[in-house]
Amino acid sequence: MNDSSERYPQTQLLLADLAREFPAFRIVPKRGNHFSLAIDLALKLITLGAQRRYLTHYHTVIGYTLYVPPVWETMSDVARVILLRHERVHLRQRRRYGFLLFAFLYLVPLLPLGLAYGRARLEWEAYQETLRATVELRGFGALADGQLQDEIVRRFVGGDYGWMWPFPRRIRAWIDQWLQELQRAETRPLTAEPGPAGSP
Ligand SMILES: [Zn+2]
Repeated sequence: MNDSSERYPQTQLLLADLAREFPAFRIVPKRGNHFSLAIDLALKLITLGAQRRYLTHYHTVIGYTLYVPPVWETMSDVARVILLRHERVHLRQRRRYGFLLFAFLYLVPLLPLGLAYGRARLEWEAYQETLRATVELRGFGALADGQLQDEIVRRFVGGDYGWMWPFPRRIRAWIDQWLQELQRAETRPLTAEPGPAGSP
């Protein structure tokens, strides 16, 4: 066994699941990767420099490859799992829509910048999973300071993703509503799970 199974036990379990679901899945560092350098340049041009952190701050799934910035190396086991669960949503979207439609939904709405509804919906689905994983692994207390919620809003309305959905109050409302749903799901007793009619 290498040391990553000791240092990252939960990550290793999730990676094993991912390998079963997506055999082609792999993780590649962005640093020194020519493809990532090219995307970085294109994003800087398209967003007029607003997205200048692609190589250093963003984890990006393209095809079945997750490109990771240097911060991946310093992330905790739980932080990696939360991130991978977000990216697993994008892998499933890609499978659900097929590569071309996924790329269309995700990339073409860059034009016009600012109202990229397709991309906003795809990202929102993935951020729902980010919030769910955070609650499951860290508890609701981890959301008490509102930092993660602020960061999610910032990602939607800011230049990082090309001002994808510039309506902060709408996004706050999505987040609040989703957290209420998660809270209800957590407090619901197991016996209240829907079962076949007439079952105890
Ligand atoms: Zn995402």
